[in-house]
Amino acid sequence: MKVGILTIGNELTSGMTQDTNSSFIAREMKTEGWGIAAMMSVGDSESSIAKGLDYMLEISDAVVVTGGLGPTSDDITTASIAKAFGLNLYTDKVVLERIKERFEKRHLKWTDNNIKQAKFPEGAEIIENPVGSACGFFLERGEKIVAVFPGVPGEIKRMLPEGLLPVLKWKFKGSEKGTTRKTIKLFGLTESTIDEAVAQLDIDLPGISIGFYPRFPEIHVVITSVNKDRYALKENLEIAEMRINERLEKNIFARDHETMEDVVAGYLKDKKLTLSIAESCTGGLIADRLTNVPGSSDFFERGIVAYSNPSKIALLDVPHSTIAQKGTVSEETAIAMAEGIRKISETDIGLSTTGITGPAGGTPQKPVGTVYIALTDGQMKACRKFIFGWNRRRIKEISTQWALEMLRRYLIGRDI
Ligand code: AMP
Ligand code: MG
Repeated sequence: MKVGILTIGNELTSGMTQDTNSSFIAREMKTEGWGIAAMMSVGDSESSIAKGLDYMLEISDAVVVTGGLGPTSDDITTASIAKAFGLNLYTDKVVLERIKERFEKRHLKWTDNNIKQAKFPEGAEIIENPVGSACGFFLERGEKIVAVFPGVPGEIKRMLPEGLLPVLKWKFKGSEKGTTRKTIKLFGLTESTIDEAVAQLDIDLPGISIGFYPRFPEIHVVITSVNKDRYALKENLEIAEMRINERLEKNIFARDHETMEDVVAGYLKDKKLTLSIAESCTGGLIADRLTNVPGSSDFFERGIVAYSNPSKIALLDVPHSTIAQKGTVSEETAIAMAEGIRKISETDIGLSTTGITGPAGGTPQKPVGTVYIALTDGQMKACRKFIFGWNRRRIKEISTQWALEMLRRYLIGRDI
């Protein structure tokens, strides 16, 4: 099955808004094993919409449309599509009531142009919108389907998986092949290294495709298996996953929906270990991520953001002389911070970060991006030095990821 993507909006064709909906939809379709016939953006113009739709229908089995479902006069997608197909518009009473209720609840002033969002072409099936007022709809045109969604990216992300994918699967079931996928999450290698490693494996199994998705600072490798044969569908996916595992195991930290913090939290809970963190350059991000995990109170004792030198001395017992002689951003200070927080908090593990996130403060010896991360359990002390090349925010994010990765390695008994 081939899918066409038509995005509508003057903000897109004027270059003011980047079309992210198309790539989202394409990814969703691809993981179902469907191909993309073409992507096209047109302005809020009746004739452009009609021509775009006509072309897309010609080259695809299903057309996914986004944009122009709002209440204002520039939102003309529904009316234009109805006109293109020679259909009348009808007002859906249930949808209208719901929109009115939303207005009342939020004490917004009702204006009659909002009725527009309750109008649909005759014969359309409504696609619910759990996060906004504009519902989508789909129309069957012979063997083909046209599905229309609002332009707001957060809304289509919620609506498409539940509202459209089952319809498409059902509609095209004759030709439908089963699809299953596995996401393997990696950290600590460049995209090209992973790409090369997977290419060398030469995984040539029927229906298997492998995609790379950099999600800074992680890289996700997604194996998609498409097959009519249910057994081969699973079997091939497992073989591909095993082969990737064998090659890249050390850098795989999680799979599917699991996050780095989930994995680390799981190990800490299993081993009944407690943790305290002293953060300087990461500004509390490590504590934030770990406390996002439900039940983190089982292992997380405290996190201190000791940003200034006096706070490192006063709150973490870092010796003044260490900072004076070795510098705030140094292996010795990072270790003293980790040891300090561990002792003060009486936890099994102490973890710390100190670094220069820039843009100012770098020196030839310690350029912007220099970060030390230390971990101690009272006996073992480990510290790693990094020189990262990104901006402030990214340096904070990758330092946090490395701190969690070092913790993960420690917890599975690997070299840090
Ligand atoms: P609309 O549904 O046309 O009223 O669009 C609402 C808002 O969603 C627009 O103002 C844009 O900010 C955003 N938007 C619309 N289409 C897209 C798209 N294809 N990609 C990303 N954002 C979009
Ligand atoms: Mg618009």
